[in-house]
Amino acid sequence: MFAMWTQFGILLLACVYLGVVGAPFNGVGDLGTDLELNAGFFEGDMDIKYTPDGKLQPTQRWPLATVYYKIEKKKFTAHQEKFIQLGMWNIEMVSCITFEPAPKEIRDYLLITDSKTGCSSTVGYSKDNTTIKLVPNSIGKGCFNLGTIQHELLHTLGFFHQHNYADRDDYVKIVKDNISTGKLVNFQKYAADSLGNFGASYDYESIMHYPSNAFSKNGGETIIARQPDGQSKMGQRDGLSSADVTRLNNMYNCPMLQPERN
Ligand SMILES: [Zn+2]
Repeated sequence: MFAMWTQFGILLLACVYLGVVGAPFNGVGDLGTDLELNAGFFEGDMDIKYTPDGKLQPTQRWPLATVYYKIEKKKFTAHQEKFIQLGMWNIEMVSCITFEPAPKEIRDYLLITDSKTGCSSTVGYSKDNTTIKLVPNSIGKGCFNLGTIQHELLHTLGFFHQHNYADRDDYVKIVKDNISTGKLVNFQKYAADSLGNFGASYDYESIMHYPSNAFSKNGGETIIARQPDGQSKMGQRDGLSSADVTRLNNMYNCPMLQPERN
């Protein structure tokens, strides 16, 4: 929670810095999770092949913790481009990650482009293709919720959804009877050596957690927290949680900011 309040302060400062404050931004707004879940990719918004093997491999992290990026021209307004950069800035403020506009000689960069269907991202660094796709919604809505942009950026940096972690059954119950036909695949659990917790235990408040009614066919909960205070925390898109910050800094071996590993 502390991290989110810190980020709220950062957001206010950054809005002034970037001139976004003039845009019709609603800080709460639409969480964007519907557009994450319905983007048409694996688990909704993860543009990857089915099996996420090897995500602990350092080769799938961005070299030198630097993400070179290009925002495709004419796909977004100037305000939207600044808002995407604001999401990057929020991550830079709590980690050693840097996002740099890709110079001409850099070929392995993150392409940020538009989508008609939803918000999505490839997962981790790759020499071939790393892409984030966002519906060019107005600021504070859909894919242009600040938390949703950070959610997609964390996928780009190599993170999966929280409820897929190996120990998730200790923290949540998946309610199969409420899940839409054909969507159960989005709730699979990965081996511990496939994802790794990077020094933070299961976190209901993670920005990478599904909302509790994700892929519900009847409006009922599809994920039920085993700890009473967990239910209302799932699906938040306000900002990175403390656990998200810990994992990010541990994954990228950030100096100074790196908390102890388990
Ligand atoms: Zn996602």
